[in-house]
Amino acid sequence: MTLASNNTPDWVFRNARIIDGTGGASYHGELAIVGDTISAVGPVGSISQTGRNEVYLQGLALAPGFIDSHTHDDRIVLDAPEMLPKISQGVTTVVVGNCGVSLAPVTFKGDPPPPMNLLGGNRSYEFVTFASYARAVAEVVPAVNVAALVGHSALRLAVMADVNAKASDSEIERMGAMLSEAMENGAVGWSTGLFYPTNAAADADEVSRLGRYVARHSGVYATHMRDEFEHVLESIDESADTAKAAGTALVISHHKCAGVENWGRSQQTLPKITRLAQDQTINIDVYPYAAGSTNLRADLITDTYPIMISWSGPHPEMTGRYLIDIAAEWGLDLSSAAAKLQPAGAIYFQMDEADVRRVLASPLSMIGSDGLPHDVHPHPRLWGTFPRVLGHYARDENLFDLETAVHKMTGKTAKVFGLTRRGQLKAGCFADLVAFRPDAIADLATYEKPVQQSVGIELVMVNGKMSFGQSGASVTRAGRLVYRDR
Ligand code: ZN
Repeated sequence: MTLASNNTPDWVFRNARIIDGTGGASYHGELAIVGDTISAVGPVGSISQTGRNEVYLQGLALAPGFIDSHTHDDRIVLDAPEMLPKISQGVTTVVVGNCGVSLAPVTFKGDPPPPMNLLGGNRSYEFVTFASYARAVAEVVPAVNVAALVGHSALRLAVMADVNAKASDSEIERMGAMLSEAMENGAVGWSTGLFYPTNAAADADEVSRLGRYVARHSGVYATHMRDEFEHVLESIDESADTAKAAGTALVISHHKCAGVENWGRSQQTLPKITRLAQDQTINIDVYPYAAGSTNLRADLITDTYPIMISWSGPHPEMTGRYLIDIAAEWGLDLSSAAAKLQPAGAIYFQMDEADVRRVLASPLSMIGSDGLPHDVHPHPRLWGTFPRVLGHYARDENLFDLETAVHKMTGKTAKVFGLTRRGQLKAGCFADLVAFRPDAIADLATYEKPVQQSVGIELVMVNGKMSFGQSGASVTRAGRLVYRDR
């Protein structure tokens, strides 16, 4: 509380329902900011100084800015730095580099192979070191903070002649050197996407040996597991074993039980993860929807759940339409129609709502959008994830209270990624804040109309700068690359 106590606050917010990010009960209070830092927070009447700006927030909740624990925003923070899909949801920090896919350190002569093309084409990849990516973020100053993971597919494509093989000892050493460079220059950890062809040939030995380079810097290991379908339990074991062998904390990405025959199996996976988490650090991220989205893949084509096209190279006119309708129109079976659409992206309605709710409600889970910002007709999670958890799941469905919902997108996430001065309303923390209307907050993005701003977010502040207001536009951009506290 002594911090900058002699300075006149730049901002004082009064009459707010303070939800501090710890998961503890909210209270009626006020909060002061000096520069980029929260200088005081407490009950009504506790801040006697008058701020240069005094803002009254009757009827509003004031919470730490939301941390999107799972994104593919590596490139969009540079290309569209106003970051409207995220800042308009109250997000103030994005964790990039998930699923083994990161913008650095790799470049391509031809087209980036799937899933690397989720971040854009050949010209999007221009960073041969993590340090050069970090510099680009600092120069652009996106509207949101960036916490970066390094992707295993990026490393493999940068180093290996043939990504369909396991890495040799010398290739592991070269990837390890790149991981060390990244960790020394501000990465918060690394990720794998063992489900994807560019990463699948890596075995537990390759993953755990690389993980040790990250463990030296106390980094996190996030994984899109090898199998989220029939062999999901085996994949959980593999993830836990490799993280343990490496000595890293584990994040299981977008946890799900995919495929109709696996619906209901979160009743097996969650108790298993909870049991393993008693012995090592394991957390989960999850998005609040029963559909997933990635590249259009032959092995995911089925008639047991609907598939919607999110983009298509040769047939852009088919975006937003269901594969089954396209196939009927073309007089083709589903697989042939899918082949004709390639390269393409898709939304797969592959999950059970009851599983989604169980994962959301798990004390191990934090909220991550997994939004795909380059898709023409993106999954609605890109624009709607955080208001959907607060409005639909917490307020309307009573899945958990508002304090718990906020904790899953702030304090918990900051702890998992080691961002100790983020994710809480506490004196000394960076002033990343969101004020929202608990009775009105709602996502408007749908599968049919996915590009829609949510409602109920009143203002967003990043590093003490007003970054989003009721006018609906980005005001100031003040995001930074954020570092893991060591
Ligand atoms: Zn993924």
